[in-house]
Amino acid sequence: MVNEVKELLKKHKITLAAHYYEKDEVFDIADITGDSLELAKKTAKLTNPLIFCGVSFMGESAKILNPSIPVYMPKLASCSMARMAEIDKVKKDIELLKKENIDFIPICYVNSSAAVKAIVGELDGSICTSSSADKIIKWALKQNKKIYFLPDKNLGTNMANKLGLIAKVIETQNWQDADIICFNGHCSVHQLFMPEHVEFYKEKYPDIKIVVHPECSPEVCKMADFVGSTSQILNYVKNHPNEKMAIGTEFNFVNRMKRDINPNIYILSSTKPECPSMNETTLKELYNLLKAIDEGNPYNEIKVDEKVYKYALKALNQMMEIVK
Ligand code: SF4
Repeated sequence: MVNEVKELLKKHKITLAAHYYEKDEVFDIADITGDSLELAKKTAKLTNPLIFCGVSFMGESAKILNPSIPVYMPKLASCSMARMAEIDKVKKDIELLKKENIDFIPICYVNSSAAVKAIVGELDGSICTSSSADKIIKWALKQNKKIYFLPDKNLGTNMANKLGLIAKVIETQNWQDADIICFNGHCSVHQLFMPEHVEFYKEKYPDIKIVVHPECSPEVCKMADFVGSTSQILNYVKNHPNEKMAIGTEFNFVNRMKRDINPNIYILSSTKPECPSMNETTLKELYNLLKAIDEGNPYNEIKVDEKVYKYALKALNQMMEIVK
């Protein structure tokens, strides 16, 4: 099936993009790979059709940043964190902040729907990724406003801890001393990594390095030797190819680094931390989509509403401008 997929991609001049969390059977044949920020930058330059293997918000971002090309996804898989940030909940938070006369700027993690990104763009805010979050927060702080950070309270709190700021979840309603007010969302995969897992590995291998993603809880991040985005973790592993390490992030990505770079890698969990949404895309699903395109019946082409497009693009462009 791999050869048929490659032939169909070539025949239709389609670029295949895959996020680091995708299954190996898809990731290993992709033309473009990366984390959210890398993929946004790389796919924005394409001039031919794109098949994006990842979760829905990534396909939407690719379409918004490059509206002239068709963007397809083998599966419209929805990230659980993005789902938590329902439009009505976000609007309710914003109304509450306005009612309390809080002067704020919204910063929205890229793991969110285009409609939520558009709300942020309309309020002159910015998108961030886990690798750009500290830069975007510093940009917002220069405006002397509080930051409404959504949807990941862990990323917001971990960035606050890194920058010496105070973060509070919006439900506390006690924001006088807070620099960052967080929406109450989280990643269902990264919440699996617990302080006891860090203790277990530290006790078993005293020289082990604990490496985690900032979507993990602040308790886990405080115990880690290195906290970084997906691409930053990859660079850390490449720079320490012989070091024993336990890594707290998505399984496919960690397992591939163990396969290709460093066999001394352990998963920082007693369960298999697979992202069910990322795992929805299989080689078979990719093949089915390509067959449908070949037969003139494509499906799962990403479309974005015009008004949503305008303001979501504004918020995404704000991030691209800050990180360029
Ligand atoms: Fe969403 Fe978490 Fe899966 Fe990333 S790992 S796509 S944040 S559910």
